[in-house]
Amino acid sequence: MIQERYPEFSKNAAWALALPGLSFWLFFVKCGLPIDSVNYCFLRQTPIMPNFFLDNQDILFHLEHLNLREIAEIQERDTPNGDADYVPDSIDDMIDNYRRILEIVGEVAAEIIAPSAEQVDADGNTHNAAEGTVTLHPLVQRNLDRLTQADMMGFTIPRKYGGLNCPITIYTMATEIVARADCSFMNMFGLQGIADTIYAFASEEIKDEYLPLFSSGKVTGAMVLTEPDAGSDLQAVRLRADQDADGTWRLNGVKRFITNGCGEVLLVLARSEPEIADGRGLSLFLCERSPAVKVRCLEKKLGIHGSPTCELVFENTPAKLVGERQRGLITYVIALMNGARLGIASQSLGVAEAAYRLARVYANSREQFGAPIERLAPVAEMVTQMQIAIEAERSLAYETARVCDLENNLNRLVERDNQNLSDAERREMKQTARGYKRLNAMLTPMSKYYGSEMCIEVTNKAVQVLGGSGYIKDYAAERYLRDARITSSLSLSLL
Ligand SMILES: Cc1cc2nc3c(=O)[nH]c(=O)nc-3n(C[C@H](O)[C@H](O)[C@H](O)COP(=O)(O)OP(=O)(O)OC[C@H]3O[C@@H](n4cnc5c(N)ncnc54)[C@H](O)[C@@H]3O)c2cc1C
Repeated sequence: MIQERYPEFSKNAAWALALPGLSFWLFFVKCGLPIDSVNYCFLRQTPIMPNFFLDNQDILFHLEHLNLREIAEIQERDTPNGDADYVPDSIDDMIDNYRRILEIVGEVAAEIIAPSAEQVDADGNTHNAAEGTVTLHPLVQRNLDRLTQADMMGFTIPRKYGGLNCPITIYTMATEIVARADCSFMNMFGLQGIADTIYAFASEEIKDEYLPLFSSGKVTGAMVLTEPDAGSDLQAVRLRADQDADGTWRLNGVKRFITNGCGEVLLVLARSEPEIADGRGLSLFLCERSPAVKVRCLEKKLGIHGSPTCELVFENTPAKLVGERQRGLITYVIALMNGARLGIASQSLGVAEAAYRLARVYANSREQFGAPIERLAPVAEMVTQMQIAIEAERSLAYETARVCDLENNLNRLVERDNQNLSDAERREMKQTARGYKRLNAMLTPMSKYYGSEMCIEVTNKAVQVLGGSGYIKDYAAERYLRDARITSSLSLSLL
């Protein structure tokens, strides 16, 4: 069996390792370490420590075969580095760096985040009703701290602001790896998209003030759009933004279902033009956590218990306008959602991957009718279908991310290089960017839609493969299914 799967593994070596191997295997299982890490220790001679990047042959395959050089070149061209400590000296150096970054994320995900997921799911976060604040579960806070210590925040932000300047393609891989460890924690990691929106649309002053805080992990953010009467239809947003006598914007109203609404920096969609009833009356504002924003309640949810979902009350909250008035929904939130859709695609991949691996190991070890159930055709078929669906979505999501990188960077270069480009060059770049935009407009919703449907189906199949055990909390399969459901519940506003 082992030799069928791993032809490089000789029969003699198998016997030589069988006995000590068995006790080592038991050690891994007892410690709750992923079984795949055992395979890698013995059979592939790759690092002993579990790593959700290095143990994933399909991600490694994509990294090897994607045209990373093209992505890295355009990402690095004219990027603002400021006085960053580290700047890659060549494209090869940059590509090596991407790999190192993913190795670190893979290590933190496997060693720190994954082992805490069950406890976080059981306990959730704590609402401090009297103060209108939230205390994150200590393990959620610890996970955030570990990613900060590993310098993994500010993933796509330029080095000038302390970020890693990674392309979206690498961020998509990292997000998947984190979601495999804990689908709910991915929401916290994924909210780095708030910093991307600030980078894309805010004034230089706001960027200089807030982006280094995101990159250093000193703040986390939230995307504050939904209201009780404005869900899928964000044009109906009512929260008011008014300027007082000294010109300061003040926010008043209620928002609900806000992931990490207890974070330090909130991007709030608000009605700045009360005479305009539709989306053209909305602007985007940045405000900081303060006693003028209270968390009125913390939602009790089906899944992703580690991710705090808050109802927020704004009372004369001072805020700063992001970009231009009236472009809040029609330009900035649409862009923000585009990134969020790809984030959901990678979240879907992560939770599906975790469920698939659990099902595969279970089907291999559970015996019925005198043999492992993986030898029963219906079970084998389910496990195979899970793998095929995941790999199909991975190809789709990574290609989408690649197209986003090319489109975004071309647009950035056209804007930045305005004086240095000849008319013909500028025209050509704009035309190419428009082509990527059209492709992106098709690929992004496809990735998000197929990803979320796929992950619900895969996690559902995992529960089935585990039989009765799939339905009880001794195994993570039921958590994966509960968590997976969120990828589709957010569907309309994100489509
Ligand atoms: C855990 C969680 C985290 C969230 N995090 C955030 C966050 O960080 N920030 C934020 O702003 N919001 C957040 N949301 C809110 C989320 O974006 C909304 O729930 C979503 O937009 C749907 O709005 P709604 O719940 O009001 O549903 P509704 O808009 O009332 O929709 C109800 C149903 O009707 C369908 N429907 C509505 N309109 C149409 C249509 N035109 N055509 C066909 N079907 C339609 C919907 O698909 C849905 O099935 C979160 C929600 C949850 C549950």
